[in-house]
Amino acid sequence: MSVLDNVAVAPAEDDAAGIAALAAAFAAQRRAFAADRAPPIGTRRERLGALIGMMTANRVRIAAAVADDFGAHPAPASDLIEVLGVVGRAAHVLEHLDAWMQPSARHIDPALFGTASARVEYQPKGVIGNMVPWNFPFDLSVGPMVDMLAAGNRVIVKPSEYTPACAALLAEMVAATFDADLVTVAIGGLDLARAFSATPWDHLLYTGSPNVGRQVMAAAAANLTPVTLELGGKCPALLTPGAVTPRNVESVIGTKIIKSGQMCVSVDYALVARGEVETFVEQARAFMARAAPDYSRSGESTGMISPRHLARIEDMLGEARDRQARIVELEDGGAVDPATRRMPMSLVIDPPADLRVMQEEIFGPVLPVVPYDDLDEAIARIAAGERPLGLYVFGGDPAVNARVLASTHSGGAAINTCAVQSALPSMGFGGSGMSGMGRHHGVEGFREFSNARGIVVRGDGDMIDAFYAPYAKAAALVDAALSPG
Ligand code: NAD
Repeated sequence: MSVLDNVAVAPAEDDAAGIAALAAAFAAQRRAFAADRAPPIGTRRERLGALIGMMTANRVRIAAAVADDFGAHPAPASDLIEVLGVVGRAAHVLEHLDAWMQPSARHIDPALFGTASARVEYQPKGVIGNMVPWNFPFDLSVGPMVDMLAAGNRVIVKPSEYTPACAALLAEMVAATFDADLVTVAIGGLDLARAFSATPWDHLLYTGSPNVGRQVMAAAAANLTPVTLELGGKCPALLTPGAVTPRNVESVIGTKIIKSGQMCVSVDYALVARGEVETFVEQARAFMARAAPDYSRSGESTGMISPRHLARIEDMLGEARDRQARIVELEDGGAVDPATRRMPMSLVIDPPADLRVMQEEIFGPVLPVVPYDDLDEAIARIAAGERPLGLYVFGGDPAVNARVLASTHSGGAAINTCAVQSALPSMGFGGSGMSGMGRHHGVEGFREFSNARGIVVRGDGDMIDAFYAPYAKAAALVDAALSPG
């Protein structure tokens, strides 16, 4: 099959053609789904096997495309997250799919329903749209596709306009692997994105910012399309008193420099006991000196996705500087490289609350370090803000860590580490409140993209006619059921 057979592929600059191609692809998938509403497990396994083959065969090209779009990107990080992460996810699903597809028997009261039986069956939803952000172009397109195909659906993916090389490669890979009426890719700009969110999907997954998420949900509401929204926000790391150790600081800074901070589950800011802030700074310096001494000039660093995104982070740092906030550069002699858009990692110590670094999701290699005097004050600060996608708690006392979790809300959480809650194939991943709704990954993902259809089969000896007039039978039944003793 050639790319040209894949009907939804259209040049990025031609949204009108892309929108028409999307409508045609959607109609074709709808027809195909109507003819095949319940693909058996063998078919689903074949599709997942093809997906694994597609990812492994294109591993080197994937790393090259990601580096192309980001200006600079470590290939092993692409291998780990974009390829191995997705393959691991598919392998986990293959292992559990049989169990997940089994109907789930439910209790049915024999006094009222006699010998009837009840069960929930997980039925495919149909044709699902997936709107992908630029930061993980394969992990967030092909990863959820694992869950969607496992649940028996058909899928159309819309990559971000910021990752043209990845989008073109994804379209080519998908066209070479799947029939377009099973999986296809829709490429285009803002008009196509709007048309995509207004398409009457059986389910729509959107990953991106809360602002656009709101518009996507409004467009989906017109069709009553159910949505999964994977959004962003400010994920805090709370280091409880005594928790500033080299291992914990490595976790915070090491996570922050993954993808130069352009990761939804990155640490956005760290809350540190006031008396431990200087130790945190020293340990952060020591970690960078050991792990990535020439960070912004080395192969360890990822570029900002566009000049505009680079300028945004520089502006945020400039504002902090203008307001006399203390900025600690963690790389001696580091500088922004406009060609590859790489930049050094900085801490902003005790920033005023009205600075942009404290108001907006940062999405870059800048970490505000916010001192606290009392742990409860730090917990209250987290609880008073929007619910983050991830909350990271560091400390050696499980009771204190549990208190932090019980007093706050977040999509996911990790104790003594960061971001790992988003990387497990066995565990649903998603947000809460402003960080989103719904889950993918694991059995939660399988169920998210399934219709949990409750089914009752009538037997004998029931009292179902108590629900029908005349209601004298119902009155007697209720009196008997509710009378004391
Ligand atoms: P974004 O929300 O700014 O833009 C995403 C896409 O939305 C763009 O490709 C654009 O074409 C499209 N768009 C813009 N306006 C639209 C509209 N009115 N209707 C339909 N589509 C429209 O997000 P981004 O910059 O691609 O990604 C960064 C954000 O994504 C961050 O907030 C980050 O935290 C979040 N994120 C979340 C997760 C997660 O799993 N929760 C993962 C990665 C990124």
